Order: sequence, then C-alpha cells, then structure tokens
Amino acid sequence: MENEYYPFVNLPLPFPPDALEPFIDGKTMMLHHDRHLKTYIENLNAFLKDRPRLQKLSLPALIQTAGHLPREEGTTLRNNAGGVFNHRFFFHLLAPVAAGGGAGPAGQLEGALRRRFGGVAEFTEAFEKAALSVFGSGYAWLVKRSGRLCIVTTPNQNCPLEMGQTPILCVDVWEHAYYLKHYNERAAYLKDWWQVVDWGEAERNFLLGQ
Ligand code: MN
Repeated sequence: MENEYYPFVNLPLPFPPDALEPFIDGKTMMLHHDRHLKTYIENLNAFLKDRPRLQKLSLPALIQTAGHLPREEGTTLRNNAGGVFNHRFFFHLLAPVAAGGGAGPAGQLEGALRRRFGGVAEFTEAFEKAALSVFGSGYAWLVKRSGRLCIVTTPNQNCPLEMGQTPILCVDVWEHAYYLKHYNERAAYLKDWWQVVDWGEAERNFLLGQ
C-alpha cells in the first residue's frame, strides 16, 4: 500500500466516487472518502506530530503497537491508525462492475473458500450473518488466522492486524457507509456491496498472506 508512513495523506479513491452506482451512491463515497477518512488521517497525523519514535513505524506496525501504549494513547492510536488502514483497505476492495466488480471469487481463493465453508454461497451467507451481527459501528472481515480462513468482526476502527490476523476482505458497516441510500437497512446495503467487490484484490490479499 502507498503512503504507509507519517505524514499520511488522503490518497484519491481508485475510481470516481459515482463509479459504483447504483449499488453505492456517489455522495456516500465522496463523503466517506473526503470527510470520514480525511478526519482519521488528520487525527492520526496530529497524534504522531510530537511522537518521533512512532513516526518511524509503518501503518500496520502502528496498529500493532496500540496495545503496548498507555491506555488512552493506545485507544487514540487504535482508532485513528485503524480508521486509516481499514478505510483504505475497504475502498481498494471495491470496483465498478465494468472493471470486474462483483464477479465473484476465482483462483486459489475460490478453492480455499469452498474447502473451508463448503461453497461460495455458504461463505456469502456466513459473512452476511457476521456483518449483520455487528452491534453499532464496525466491520466484518475474512482473515487468515493461524493459517486458517476465518470470518471475524471488529468494533469501531479495530483492525485484525492488531490480533496478528491477515485481512483478505472487509465490509464497513458503520452507518456512514450506507445510510444516505439504504437508510437503516444494513442487509440491503450488504446485497448491493457484493455487486462491487473486487475479488481480484481479495485474491491478491489472500496470496500475500500465504
Ligand atoms: Mn467508514
């Protein structure tokens, strides 16, 4: 990932904000990237400004350091480094349909999902169930944990990297990710989200974690 070190900048989305319509609307994508992610970037830079030792750490290393800091500092770092990593990760797992979004898993990941969950449909159902189970704000993830594919959820901006897990796929289920179009219907948002998942990117994440 680009720009892994302080100072962090809000890199542009990999596609125009309205490119995921009608599944995810342009206004949501614009606000999500230009305001929500921007705020995490500014807050992370502000936190690191007077901490030269931490400035030397990459974004994943910062996340893995949060638990070793005094409690309040650790929470600030977890929320903001996680907010930057998780959003970049989530946005890079989206692609317009014309660019292959929603094509479904292929290659080695498809085989691994079939072996682990019994099939892509079974995986999809289990992943949606996990995403719907997040109370309040958070994420659902497909991760590799001790070499095994697992579906996990995290609250707030917590990131599986902190637990030593390798993220492969994630969905942001904070209401800001879907409220303008889907109102409070998270299940409807999830159905639309599958239509713009970039499975090529998920495959790359899976192979990196081998
Ligand atoms: Mn978000």
